[in-house]
Amino acid sequence: MKYCSNCGSPVRSLIPPGDTLPRYVCDACTTIHYQNPKIVVGCIPEWEGKILMCRRAIEPRHGLWTLPAGFLENHETTLEGAVRETLEEAHARVEISMLYALYNVPHINQVYLLFRGQLLDLNFKPGAESLEVQLFDERQIPWEKLAFRTVRETLKVYFSDRRSGSFSFHIGDISPPQSSNKPSNELAQATRLSERI
Ligand SMILES: [Zn+2]
Repeated sequence: MKYCSNCGSPVRSLIPPGDTLPRYVCDACTTIHYQNPKIVVGCIPEWEGKILMCRRAIEPRHGLWTLPAGFLENHETTLEGAVRETLEEAHARVEISMLYALYNVPHINQVYLLFRGQLLDLNFKPGAESLEVQLFDERQIPWEKLAFRTVRETLKVYFSDRRSGSFSFHIGDISPPQSSNKPSNELAQATRLSERI
């Protein structure tokens, strides 16, 4: 951040009195510009043992597969956001059944919230941000062409839960890609952080 979004003056980075972290502060209008993580909301749309996925028509990860998800808007609940993203990206209507997974992605300042949702009909088609949308059963999941690690982790626990016959809420942390030279540790960490509620 270089300029104040309130008055247009240059901002400085400093630790305000009583605070513990540097903030962008505007000397002209005294506004302190706090920056906090963004929330990404999404859905696992289900239909007769299959799930609906979208192939991305936009960067990042153009051409790779993902679950319908996107940034929560102001004045919107997380559930409303998940339903909206599913409609926008896949023209798919869902009835949300449960909050299924939460992933912290602290190195990019994001928190993912993924819901399970029952597809209400099969009238889905690609939205503006999707090249194609398709139902997959577990054997068909394009594991080598997934867009995001959050999606990969979500699908891993999802199909594991389904095999066990019991779906439960999962929470985990996604670490920076630089440390992904220890994929088994990352998986162990995600597994360790999964907990039943
Ligand atoms: Zn200002």
